[in-house]
Amino acid sequence: MPHPSSISGKSDLDWSAIAAELAPVEVIAEPILVKKRSRDFFWYSPILDRQLKSCFGDLVARPATPAEMAHCLSVAARHRAPVVLRGGGTGNYGQAVPVDGGLIIDTTAMGRIIEIGPDWVRVEAGCNILALNEALKARGRELPIFPSTQDMATIGGFISGGSAGIGTVTHGMLRDPGNILEIRALSAEETPLEHVFTGADVNLIHHAWGINAVITELTLRSVPAQDWIGCIASFATYPDCHRAAIALAASTEIERKLCSTLDARIGRYFDRLRGIVPEGRAMLVTLIPRGQMPAFRALLADHGGSLDLEMGEDERQARKLPHVFDFSYNHTTLQALKTDRKVTYLQVLFPAPVTVAKVEELLAVLGDDVWMHHEFARLDGRLVSFDLPLVQYTTDERLYEIMAIYEAHGCPVSDPHKSVLEDGGMKKANMAQLALKKRMDPHGLLNSAKTRSWPRVRDLAPEAIAALEG
Ligand SMILES: Cc1cc2nc3c(=O)[nH]c(=O)nc-3n(C[C@H](O)[C@H](O)[C@H](O)COP(=O)(O)OP(=O)(O)OC[C@H]3O[C@@H](n4cnc5c(N)ncnc54)[C@H](O)[C@@H]3O)c2cc1C
Repeated sequence: MPHPSSISGKSDLDWSAIAAELAPVEVIAEPILVKKRSRDFFWYSPILDRQLKSCFGDLVARPATPAEMAHCLSVAARHRAPVVLRGGGTGNYGQAVPVDGGLIIDTTAMGRIIEIGPDWVRVEAGCNILALNEALKARGRELPIFPSTQDMATIGGFISGGSAGIGTVTHGMLRDPGNILEIRALSAEETPLEHVFTGADVNLIHHAWGINAVITELTLRSVPAQDWIGCIASFATYPDCHRAAIALAASTEIERKLCSTLDARIGRYFDRLRGIVPEGRAMLVTLIPRGQMPAFRALLADHGGSLDLEMGEDERQARKLPHVFDFSYNHTTLQALKTDRKVTYLQVLFPAPVTVAKVEELLAVLGDDVWMHHEFARLDGRLVSFDLPLVQYTTDERLYEIMAIYEAHGCPVSDPHKSVLEDGGMKKANMAQLALKKRMDPHGLLNSAKTRSWPRVRDLAPEAIAALEG
């Protein structure tokens, strides 16, 4: 029977008593606020929307220091309360949705920038990414990779839930050596212990959706800041646009920080670009260092593109325009969803070598309900692209038929309509991450609903766990 204080309707714990024990940590018990903090951007997917919209936590705690975080985890462990960490709540697959109910730990009060070194920064997990980038900029540095959600997202949420972003076309994936230098994380037990992860071990926690550790502090690489010019160029056809994007992404002369291509039809959702980018033209969205604009203009001339928008940061603010990256990554879909809730998306890898021929091959077989949108990236050191197409959603069956078409043409799909880790890009359980969960989260409290394989690993003998850890 759920306890009367349970908002999720799934818990028999006395949440009023737990709230009292959490003192002096700030708690939020107002049902409407707890429900609000139980959501992320899962509603991008009509399938996840059906599955997750009624999943809520029971109480929110908002620790302001690592010591307060440890106190929250200790209280949760004593009561065997499920725990979900929450940063900005911008994840797309219900990563931060408390499917089993329980305690939501909001990290946003734990956002100190601890130290900025010559080419690195040490920061608490709850730091807002825009604030972090601004602090770095004041020292002539910036993050090599950041998500298009930087205004809302936390750095801990990005490292736990994200994988790539603005900068990936040059600096690779977050998981690549040298991007994440150190992770400090707490275990979820009666007496939480701090563990320090460096080298390849950072990937035991990166992109684990908070299932196996609670990140308190991160040391990340920084790179020299640039005076970025946000550019949107347009082309007569998508293949023309794609050809120019491949040349830009592969260029050794132009240090672009973003390289996105968008089907002309997507432009109808971009109200803020009306009168700037002509209708009916495919778009190349990019960030170019000011000094390299002549080389970029030459590249566009070679590929038949016209430069419709170029703006430095001061001009952007003066014109009250969005950043160009507000039309890239998962923001592209968000622009469409603002006016059309029938739209959804996919995540598809176009492996190396990227070619216009592969795009033309897919354009010929995909229906009018799929509008391509590619993000160029460096994956394992090679140039690839991720297609995050807008899909005019009709039925689940059609959505999976589209995924099957991509797969049949050699383009693997990371299904964004599933809310467990095993169904994402890797398509299998990450046993090393699960072995770490057994060590750091012995009671299985941390976001366990997001891994199908946990019940199997939970019951393994210590020797079997040691073998998984290699
Ligand atoms: C419009 C839009 C654009 C996006 N663009 C990008 C993009 O460019 N690149 C990209 O990779 N993603 C992108 N995303 C996904 C998402 O924004 C990123 O993953 C983001 O950085 C998450 O940060 P957050 O603070 O909102 O995390 P949350 O959504 O709050 O959490 C994400 C996951 O991390 C866990 N978590 C949070 N804090 C901690 C912690 N301290 N310790 C352990 N686990 C923790 C949560 O439990 C959850 O599983 C986008 C999403 C949207 C809606």
